[in-house]
Amino acid sequence: MPPSRDDRADASAPRPVVLVTGGAGYIGSHACKALERDGFLPVSYDNLCTGWADAVKFGPLEQGDLLNRKRLDEVFAQHRPVAVMHFAALSQVGESMAQPGKYWLNNALGSLNLIEAATEAQCGAFVFSSTCATYGDQDGVVLDETAAQLPINAYGASKRAIEDMLANFGESHGLRSVIFRYFNVAGADPDGDIGEFHRPETHLIPLMLDAIDGRRPALTVFGSDYDTPDGTCIRDYVHVSDLVDAHVLGLRYLLEGGNSRVFNLGTGTGFSVREVVDNSRAVTNRDVPIVEGARRAGDCTRLVSGSTRAKAELGWAPRRSDMATMIADAWRWHQNGHYDR
Ligand code: UDP
Repeated sequence: MPPSRDDRADASAPRPVVLVTGGAGYIGSHACKALERDGFLPVSYDNLCTGWADAVKFGPLEQGDLLNRKRLDEVFAQHRPVAVMHFAALSQVGESMAQPGKYWLNNALGSLNLIEAATEAQCGAFVFSSTCATYGDQDGVVLDETAAQLPINAYGASKRAIEDMLANFGESHGLRSVIFRYFNVAGADPDGDIGEFHRPETHLIPLMLDAIDGRRPALTVFGSDYDTPDGTCIRDYVHVSDLVDAHVLGLRYLLEGGNSRVFNLGTGTGFSVREVVDNSRAVTNRDVPIVEGARRAGDCTRLVSGSTRAKAELGWAPRRSDMATMIADAWRWHQNGHYDR
């Protein structure tokens, strides 16, 4: 186990490598920062289809596609990672309904390649970025890790399939995995080094910030007739910095010999779309122009974590996941930070 950067006597000593797929993306780049701070060398594996080369600041970038098994094998042979953190994925619910094949190919088949490459390279610790979308729309059910997985969109279905792969490879080949089922990830690095930047953007908070500063005419609220107190969908938002802290804890758990385990990552508090908008008005002190639109295909009514397992078992302690801090961090990044456009 490496000592953290602050405790290392010899900063030039070789650091254990973690292969971070999607290291040029929003969550992957924050994970690289957390890994580097914790004494690991994050090697990003990314095809740059949605990521940004200039978000890779904390270790080398190996450009490659998950569907390219030869390239994956080369990178495993060259860097000999002690573990994989697998973020690379297509992650838009709406797109997954319009183009399910794209999701099964890139997410499911791409992950199968990665899992096989890791297994053959005898890299036996795997941290996987799964999603609350695997639970689907289960009214009145407490969404803890034992809840049934009944996805209602191709994105969630492709992620559930990868969870099944990890379980099978665990049974047959001893691959140990930590699966994190994220709720909605928000915010940006508090130091301003990295942040959320998608082209095209589809996520609520960055689109809302665009509407606030006039880069878009308005935020369209997708559906006002859901069975919720104000008619809009409810989500559980977690700060990206807190989320990646959990990944480092999960990695250390595996490297210390922990068995495969699933953890929800959410705060347990739900916010409707309208409540997020109201909070943004308060934080930015600006108006948020909104228009009411139709429901988006594949959206669940309410997704809120009903679990404290990550806190109890990994010692996870979210620090920035209150709504005001998440919006303030995202707003600061939105105003000051950007990648090469
Ligand atoms: N949403 C919205 N307008 C937008 C984008 C998102 O009303 O322009 C809603 C969406 O329907 C969902 C919530 O905001 O209820 C969060 O959506 P997002 O795409 O950010 O994340 P998801 O929940 O799909 O992972």
